[in-house]
Amino acid sequence: MPEISSFLNNVQLVVFVAMSAALAAMATGLWYERRQRMRNEKQVLDLKQEMLQHSHHDQLTGLPNRKFLLDVLPLRLKESNPFAFLYIKFPRAAEVRSSLGHDISDELTIAIVRRLKEVMDAQHFLARLSASSFAILYPADNPDMAMDKAQQIQRVLAKPYMLSGQEIQMISAIGVRHTNGGGDAMNVLRDAEIAMQNVQHKHIDAISVFESSMRAQLEMRYELETDLRRALYFETGQMKVAFQPIVSIKDEKLVGFEALARWQHPSKGFIPPDKFIHVAEETGMIVPLWNFILTESCRQLAGWLPFMPDGLRPTIAVNLSATQLNSPGLYRSLENALEITGLPPDLLKIEITESGLMLDYDVTGPLLEKIRTLGCSISIDDFGTGYSSLSYLLRLPVNDIKVDRSFIKVMHDTPINRELVRAIIDMGHLLHKKVVAEGVETAEDLTALRAMGCDHAQGYFFCKPMFAAQVPEYLQKFN
Ligand code: C2E
Ligand code: MG
Ligand code: MG
Repeated sequence: MPEISSFLNNVQLVVFVAMSAALAAMATGLWYERRQRMRNEKQVLDLKQEMLQHSHHDQLTGLPNRKFLLDVLPLRLKESNPFAFLYIKFPRAAEVRSSLGHDISDELTIAIVRRLKEVMDAQHFLARLSASSFAILYPADNPDMAMDKAQQIQRVLAKPYMLSGQEIQMISAIGVRHTNGGGDAMNVLRDAEIAMQNVQHKHIDAISVFESSMRAQLEMRYELETDLRRALYFETGQMKVAFQPIVSIKDEKLVGFEALARWQHPSKGFIPPDKFIHVAEETGMIVPLWNFILTESCRQLAGWLPFMPDGLRPTIAVNLSATQLNSPGLYRSLENALEITGLPPDLLKIEITESGLMLDYDVTGPLLEKIRTLGCSISIDDFGTGYSSLSYLLRLPVNDIKVDRSFIKVMHDTPINRELVRAIIDMGHLLHKKVVAEGVETAEDLTALRAMGCDHAQGYFFCKPMFAAQVPEYLQKFN
């Protein structure tokens, strides 16, 4: 019996030890599992935090992004304290990126943010909305206070940036939306953007304060954009070329035509270039417009050449927008037009505005040289309305200078105005350029310009722009 009892004791001991071991193992397993779970949870939390940081912040600058702004804006609006929403856009940012490269463009963005932070305090909220736009929210009791701050910010941004040995000048377009709180966040953002869009095509530093009439203007603009797209891509016949003669002042003989775009809208009637060229520029539709005007002008002139009165060999001048200077197919489009129309290249002129030419010599200089090697010539359009540097003018491979109409218009008002026109003509001659006076409307204008030695003239006094069908009859007068 004692053996049995001791045997049972031993069995109990073994069971006890085994159970303890099993329990201990289970406890350790559970502890491990729990620790692992906690680790995983922390990792998930960190990941979530990181994702939140990523999804709510701009990677390059670390600034809050559009999403973050749209979380903050409703809260600010609920507080019902007056504040301003600034929409800042750098219209030339894409140009800088494509011409100077991504690295310099990134450096520039960081330099811009640094400057913005210099004029901000703890109550300001700065966000990066896109590659070329920022938003700032700041307390402002009224629109005037909002404007003062916007001007201060623009002044700071306008100073040149020195990056990798290059001086870069950035223009900014700023839209201001002042609010006393309440309302919808998306509307406030959109209003500020609309105000910015109101000035972004101006090619200068500009600020615009939102007004409700701007919404209607924007709708009209979109309508115009849609109509223009239809006119250029789908419905031939709406867009036409008008030809305005340019004559020699010496003998009033025809020396060339300027090709001017004319848009005959099916229901709105004639829409002048001043109303649609900037829309075409902003939307890229300037390229199909250019191709059409260029080819049509070359084709028409090539067709008139065999019937030209003796001694006449007029050129055709086509306007090129500054925004096209970076467009990759530009040179090819010229080659193409000359090839398919058979127009001699020396009869084709390209008119570029002064401000367009001054944009970036490294881009424009070689391109203009290349155009000239084709045999075409180049005119500076609207001379006197932009900012030219004389040294720049000397280097630019241009043939003609066209004195802007605004100078001719007031030429007889004061002796100074007259001398100004004379000075431009003399300067043009000094640089070995031909000088063309634009907007010559009276015999008095012509006499004065002749006395000053101006070479060519264009204006209503000689002839208004006309459609191709009228040109053969006009040419008759030179027979
Ligand atoms: P622009 O190149 O300086 O063209 C001359 C403008 O002056 C034309 O206006 C012409 O009709 C007008 N003009 C000519 N003589 C007189 C005159 O004696 N008195 C007055 N008051 N005006 C005169 P338009 O056709 O309205 O064109 C305005 C501007 O639109 C052009 O100025 C040019 O910058 C732009 N533009 C016109 N067609 C094109 C085009 O095909 N492409 C591009 N990029 N721009 C164009
Ligand atoms: Mg022109
Ligand atoms: Mg002009």
